[in-house]
Amino acid sequence: STNDSKSTSKKKVVAVVGGGLVGALNACYFAKRGFQVEVFESREDIRQAKIVKGRSINLALSHRGRQALKQVGMEDTIVSKGIPMHSRMIHSLNGTQSPIPYGKKGQYILSVDRANLNKELLSAAETYSNTKLNFAHKLLNWSTETGAMTFLRADGAKEEIQADLIVGCDGAFSAIRKQFLRQSRFNFSQTYIPHGYLELTMPPINGEFAMKPNYLHIWPRNTFMMIALPNLDKTFTCTLFMPFDEFENVTTGDQVIEFFQKYFPDAIPLIGADALKRDYFCLPAQAMVSVKCSPYHLSDKCVLMGDAAHAVVPFYGQGMNAGFEDCLVFNEIMDQLNEDFSAVLPEYTRVRVPDDHAIADLAMYNYVEMRSHVNSKWFLFRKYVDNFLHIIMPRTIIPLYTMASFFVIHLTPIYSTFNMILSLYYCEGF
Ligand code: FAD
Repeated sequence: STNDSKSTSKKKVVAVVGGGLVGALNACYFAKRGFQVEVFESREDIRQAKIVKGRSINLALSHRGRQALKQVGMEDTIVSKGIPMHSRMIHSLNGTQSPIPYGKKGQYILSVDRANLNKELLSAAETYSNTKLNFAHKLLNWSTETGAMTFLRADGAKEEIQADLIVGCDGAFSAIRKQFLRQSRFNFSQTYIPHGYLELTMPPINGEFAMKPNYLHIWPRNTFMMIALPNLDKTFTCTLFMPFDEFENVTTGDQVIEFFQKYFPDAIPLIGADALKRDYFCLPAQAMVSVKCSPYHLSDKCVLMGDAAHAVVPFYGQGMNAGFEDCLVFNEIMDQLNEDFSAVLPEYTRVRVPDDHAIADLAMYNYVEMRSHVNSKWFLFRKYVDNFLHIIMPRTIIPLYTMASFFVIHLTPIYSTFNMILSLYYCEGF
């Protein structure tokens, strides 16, 4: 089916650089408004490629992300292929499992497959006749004076392209953002955390999920943590977060088993000792970076969204959700200010920077908290207290995670008000 744009009189060209999660969704938004949309993605078309290299295999989709998908008619498609996770399931060292609900009854987050989500969004963008997807186009540079972008194509040739608006959705190491760094009064910070992550697959047992599927499983172990999210093929993807120093200490298959014996004994038979020994060394542990910057725009020419604007550490499960919300918020401002880029872009920065920075801070805060003193007992205790208070005072006390996951709210005021209390007491996330 072809989605025809609302108006054919608009001929402005919007270049979306990066066809990842946020870029693909953004293409739908701009196409729906009737712009000529050109998406430039450095990779080949992932819908054709066999193996998709990339980050985490699955992601937690929450209310913010769903709202953004809804606006372009994609919520149901994506939700139908997601697995609801109503609660966390905390695994203690002795194997006890204790569920902690995410919010009230009926509130849940969804485990979605990253590759499928990206493919669906690219296909949705392509249903608009005014959208063109250009794969194997890697942005090398662009000129802030002329707006001309230089792309490297798969055949090695370079291509120059002009657009009325450039939307940088090219991820945490954004090439678009490089030009921002040369501007006066552009704030930028980048922080790598000492932890890395590694993914392991837990296969089905007798054709069924090896653990209860409708949960986000967590093994909190002070400086280490493992989580597992369910997939449609009845596997779980387990993600082990651990300091790089510790990863370096585990170098043989036997050491892997020894390490799991000590910290995650219940996971050994579920992953399988042989698979564990092998898969642990398949890929090196991946780094995690937090990137903050402001402003998000450069004159009326260019705007950053998603990880290009704000890469966050994954301990709050909100990176993609916040990126999706960027698209939604930008779209609302386009309505308010009649698509006048010279007014829309600064307003987007004004509205969005504080919220995205709050998410980045919460994610980092949570990382610090978990690292310092979260073991399963403490985690359980904290969640019970939070949820108990929420039940007796539902309007006054809402656990921060519930707030961030299920309400589209401006986090900044809440964040700053409770900052003091938070720093003494709070640990949230997942
Ligand atoms: P990306 O997904 O990085 O996409 C950028 C795209 O741009 C890519 O396709 C890339 O190929 C392309 N590109 C890059 N450079 C160029 C160039 N020069 N020219 C052209 N194209 C280019 N978020 C959640 O909401 N929930 C979660 O549960 C969650 N879990 C996570 C777990 C882990 C371990 C990690 C690392 C992250 C997690 N996140 C999660 C965060 C989430 O992955 C990101 O926020 C999200 O992928 C950002 O999307 P994006 O489109 O902005 O960037």
